[in-house]
Amino acid sequence: MLLSFHGADRGVTGSCHLLEAAGRKILVDCGLYQGGRRIEEENAQAFGFAAGAIDFVLLTHAHLDHCGRLPLLVRRGFSGEIVATAATRELARLVLLDAAHLQEEEARFHARLHERRGEHGEMEAPLYSLLDAMDVFDRFGRVAAYGRTIELAPNLRATFFDAGHILGSASVLIEAEENGLVRRILFSGDIGNAGRPLLRDPDPPGNVDVAVMETTYGDRLHRPFEATVAEFYEALNESFRRGGVVIIPTFALERAQDILFCLREGVELNKLPPSMPVFLDSPMAISATEIFRKHPECYDEETARLFTEHVDPFALPGLRFTREKAESMALNALRGGAVILAGSGMCTGGRVRHHLLRHLNRKDSSVIFVGFAAEGTLARQIIDGARHVTIFGENVAVRAHIHTINGFSAHADQAELLAWRAKANPGRTFLVHGEETAMRVFAGKIGAGDVVLPERGQSFEL
Ligand code: ZN
Repeated sequence: MLLSFHGADRGVTGSCHLLEAAGRKILVDCGLYQGGRRIEEENAQAFGFAAGAIDFVLLTHAHLDHCGRLPLLVRRGFSGEIVATAATRELARLVLLDAAHLQEEEARFHARLHERRGEHGEMEAPLYSLLDAMDVFDRFGRVAAYGRTIELAPNLRATFFDAGHILGSASVLIEAEENGLVRRILFSGDIGNAGRPLLRDPDPPGNVDVAVMETTYGDRLHRPFEATVAEFYEALNESFRRGGVVIIPTFALERAQDILFCLREGVELNKLPPSMPVFLDSPMAISATEIFRKHPECYDEETARLFTEHVDPFALPGLRFTREKAESMALNALRGGAVILAGSGMCTGGRVRHHLLRHLNRKDSSVIFVGFAAEGTLARQIIDGARHVTIFGENVAVRAHIHTINGFSAHADQAELLAWRAKANPGRTFLVHGEETAMRVFAGKIGAGDVVLPERGQSFEL
């Protein structure tokens, strides 16, 4: 058996791991590299294996850094089967179509730019097209249910376990038999932050031989969730007292739904004004929320009970979806006491930039950041206290109140990662999906035993 690494090695994006066992080649995830400088080139590079030789892709969840290179895999010859949970399959469709659309737009933008400069030559092709993304959907085969084993091939089985990270997310156990010896290899996917609303806590199987696990927050602990929610409500109420508009830059998948859930609870528990207008101003988040409503099988007990009592966990009295551009632009007339949720979470694109352009320089407005903001992004500049920022070429003074609330993470912290690993109890552990410093701290916490920090292209005999 051979395990090799083709992404998310000493970094948090581009997840892609290959297991060769029982005469088959199984890929776990095929994600996009994100962030960084030479990212386009990195994504377009060869995979490090022949796409046409892959028999199965087991997809842990629908985040772009786990599924975003699937269109490339198919275009380069993959004709095997993709196995994922029902929710992951639906969310991946949304995510991949959106990604392809953005890449086509970007390619057109560059083409226009070159034309204006009078440069003629080869037009830059998008990394992949909408058609490439659509071809991925033909490759989805069997649907995985949590805890139910799927016979991939003779002597080769896969079981998906709830990872509690986003809707439909899973850790995947592969059991492979060679020469009468069965090996259990567990891929963590992204591990969720236990105790949050909506999703169940991560639930890995025990006694595995090998674990390939994420280490995003291998070096730190999160604030308790209750304290985070209390801080969030306080920031909202303070803004309402001032009479300003509240902008919440948010990721479309999971974070937007977490925030809607908290807003609904806040209203129900009389911790927030009952009739506050809330606008979800993101077509992608609106579609994702519709998919969330279709998968009651994915939720924890408390949220599942809401569904059986016909309570919509994402609905509150003042909530409006603004899918159309004209509806979004009409929000410019808002004066105060309203909440606008818009993407992107790091303010690198999307409708949130229009709202920031309008409200950042108003003393009565607030911006509440509820997610991670990478170095160099507009969100990060504002969080770090910039007095002026540039949006659409305009210099905008930052006069609004800025709140940063860190406890909404969808990733396990160090203690939770340790608990996850203790339950899986692996003989050998490979650390992926983390910055190298976080990995080293986490490796130190595991202590003695066989811990490996693989590099890209490295393979290991199991
Ligand atoms: Zn993820």
